[in-house]
Amino acid sequence: MRLTKEQSEALLQKLAHLNSVCPLCGCGRFFADGVVYQLVECTGKTIVMRVGTTFQPVISASCEQCGYTILFNALMSGVITMDYLENYVEPPPQA
Ligand SMILES: [Zn+2]
Repeated sequence: MRLTKEQSEALLQKLAHLNSVCPLCGCGRFFADGVVYQLVECTGKTIVMRVGTTFQPVISASCEQCGYTILFNALMSGVITMDYLENYVEPPPQA
């Protein structure tokens, strides 16, 4: 799932507002790749998606200097809404 340009900018504005500094290298520049990932509940030895499996939609921001990456819950951060999540349609692949 991709973020819109506005959603990606909202994430970076949140980081700027928090005066975020990388805890590893002290750099203050982060970038977001504009992708919503999901953390999936561990259900045992195999990776299985089944009805009722708990997941969290997360977005990442990485330090431009060292690559240190932080995750935000995409919904709780307010970057995306439940409506966006439930009604998202994957765009066709670009040729
Ligand atoms: Zn860093």
